Amino acid sequence: MKPANSILSGYGTTVFEVMSALANEHRAVNLGQGFPDGNGPDDVRAVAHAALDDRPNQYPPMFGVPELRQAVAKHNRRFYGLDIDWQTETLVTSGATEALAAAHFGLIEPGDEVVLIEPLYDCYLPIIRRAGAVPRLVRIEPPDWSLPEADLRAAFSDRTKLVLINTPMNPAAKVFTREELDFIAGLCLEHDAYCVADEVYEHLVFDGRPHVTMMGLPGMRERTVRIGSAGKTFSLTGWKVGYITAPPALMTPIAKTHQYLTFTTPPNLQRATAFGLEKDAGYFTGLARGLQRSRDRFRAGLEEIGFATVECHGTYFITVDIRSVGFNGDDVDFCRTLTTEAGVAAVPVSAFYQNDPPRHFARFSFCKEDATLDEALKRMRAWLGR
Ligand code: PMP
Ligand code: GLN
Repeated sequence: MKPANSILSGYGTTVFEVMSALANEHRAVNLGQGFPDGNGPDDVRAVAHAALDDRPNQYPPMFGVPELRQAVAKHNRRFYGLDIDWQTETLVTSGATEALAAAHFGLIEPGDEVVLIEPLYDCYLPIIRRAGAVPRLVRIEPPDWSLPEADLRAAFSDRTKLVLINTPMNPAAKVFTREELDFIAGLCLEHDAYCVADEVYEHLVFDGRPHVTMMGLPGMRERTVRIGSAGKTFSLTGWKVGYITAPPALMTPIAKTHQYLTFTTPPNLQRATAFGLEKDAGYFTGLARGLQRSRDRFRAGLEEIGFATVECHGTYFITVDIRSVGFNGDDVDFCRTLTTEAGVAAVPVSAFYQNDPPRHFARFSFCKEDATLDEALKRMRAWLGR
């Protein structure tokens, strides 16, 4: 048999799938893979239901249904003051994952360099390497996740095609500050590089911090590919509706990729997402407030049973230092043991690093009902004998 593609066949099964399967096998409370307990907003689901019966279910336009593209443009204006032409600067994708693939396959020429910051969301490196780029990795680490400016500067060169930034960042729960993003934007301008901004957690930011979009920074409007996801903004992760905002010169090659990757996304889910993006301000602040409450409740519980927690400024995730409860082993052991013995699943932070990862941090998802979080805490308390 001839071999399959050597880049992709070198990867195992993603940690999220592995931990969810283990959680199911052991009937564990699954705080590994990041997905909410709830079923998303009733009114958004109702639009999707109605659209299934009332509206066409055939191929929608390749760029997405006009009402969603218009809603994406308006959302950019409402939250970030960006003036976006929906007809040339928006594209609907099948989740942010497809948006990331379309963006990189559309922009990268083999041999280009891409700057990335570890910890890395799982699909970044496989996509970038499959596109033929050479990754240039810079790392941030728990517990402070501070940005090493000198390393970042050193990672950029004239070969840098783009930098991939994820803010708010999974799993670090770091929300990049305006100053940090200004620094990165400065490097992009200096080296004539683009920025792919994975901003799927844009509305999940806590404690009154602002989400700063790369696209809004001076000089970056023309060089940024901004990616959002209905999965995160409407707590409906299975929907896989994503959206890209990008200037026409970048959108054209990205859309060409998209036409051969998925071409379209289910029309009823697009219509419901359009409705959702137009919801009033209370929806968006309520989403963040609710998650912040869950973070506070879960974090207090973790600390009460002895876990040292790492700061969490946004996303679905909180990280703990497993040494704080006297665990004698690495994060992979910890997450497996916690799932099989305590009945609570988490994800090892080392899975988000390429080489020489930190090995004593675990990530929990707190986007859950109180009862789920309380049950997980109860099980861990019993397991730890506290
Ligand atoms: N980027 C990041 C940082 C994520 O955490 C996720 C979550 N699943 C995605 C992209 C993918 O989003 P989607 O489910 O819309 O493909
Ligand atoms: N983004 C989710 C997480 O980080 C997982 C998505 C997936 O399973 N691919 O947990």
